[in-house]
Amino acid sequence: MNDDVLSAIVVWQAIGSGVLCAAMACAKGRSALAWAFVGLVFGILAVIALAGMPIREEEEQETSFVCPSCRHRFRRLHRIDQKALCPKCGEQF
Ligand SMILES: [Zn+2]
Repeated sequence: MNDDVLSAIVVWQAIGSGVLCAAMACAKGRSALAWAFVGLVFGILAVIALAGMPIREEEEQETSFVCPSCRHRFRRLHRIDQKALCPKCGEQF
């Protein structure tokens, strides 16, 4: 009987940690699925580890280019072989 209660507590804290990790990972721009798994395995330790992690910044968020040819401003989403490709005039630089 006591073992049943104990394993129920262990199982539910694992599930709770998994769900909490997924939610926190999502808010921090990390993989919710991966962190849900980590939370299930490591429980509250994973929650603490994730809480201490900085928010991952999207790399292309703040980088914008101005095309030297047509002066069109765009973000660096259009990239071929480390070169920026202007979506307006097709200029590579
Ligand atoms: Zn251009």
